[in-house]
Amino acid sequence: MNDTFKHKGMRNQLANLLVTKGITHKKVLDAIRAVPRHLFLDSSFEAHAYQDKAFPIGAEQTISQPYTVAFQTELLALGANTKVLEIGTGSGYQTAVLLKCGAKVYTVERQLELFKKTSLFFKKMGYRPKKIIFGDGYKGLPDEAPFDGIIVTAGAPEVPKPLLSQLKVGGRLVIPVGVEEQTMTLFIRKSDKAFEKEEFGSFRFVPLLENKN
Ligand code: SAH
Repeated sequence: MNDTFKHKGMRNQLANLLVTKGITHKKVLDAIRAVPRHLFLDSSFEAHAYQDKAFPIGAEQTISQPYTVAFQTELLALGANTKVLEIGTGSGYQTAVLLKCGAKVYTVERQLELFKKTSLFFKKMGYRPKKIIFGDGYKGLPDEAPFDGIIVTAGAPEVPKPLLSQLKVGGRLVIPVGVEEQTMTLFIRKSDKAFEKEEFGSFRFVPLLENKN
């Protein structure tokens, strides 16, 4: 598969659709226009890659819906050179959108199969996250903390404490919280101890799983 004018046209239409759904940040819309989502999916989904839908990516996981990716990215409010931790690399699509927005990205995936596949894919495509880590995102990434932004791309039954503690003051954690359905939740660290919390709409994610070993 390669990237053609037809794909670019479909991405433009997708970005226009996201505008009608309320996405406004130019940086985010430009990233949606730039990242070739069809290449992150199995070729059998190529015709559908620019619909605003989630699709299976193997290992019982899904690539998030473009609207969800755009919405979460917008909530991170990325400045220049923002240092971001992503929990749940999956297909790498959200990672690529963050990179296009100019973020320095550290991304963690707990499924070995996806970790290997997506690491290779990033190399092939020339996407350069600072680090892609095979591990348990519940723990965050203490060695690289603190972060300006942390984005969780799986549904968390509860907010992992380490993620809050790994935010800079002024930093933002964007996390879908809930079991069957999740409420998109934004935490902003106001000081060492104080966090501001804001809740947005309902979403459906695959579960954030804790490693029990
Ligand atoms: N951002 C991805 C979304 C993938 S779905 C994309 O755009 O394709 C969520 C991902 O989170 C899955 O790949 C799943 O394996 C991973 N995940 C679930 N629990 C995790 C954990 N504790 N640590 C790291 N990754 C986790």
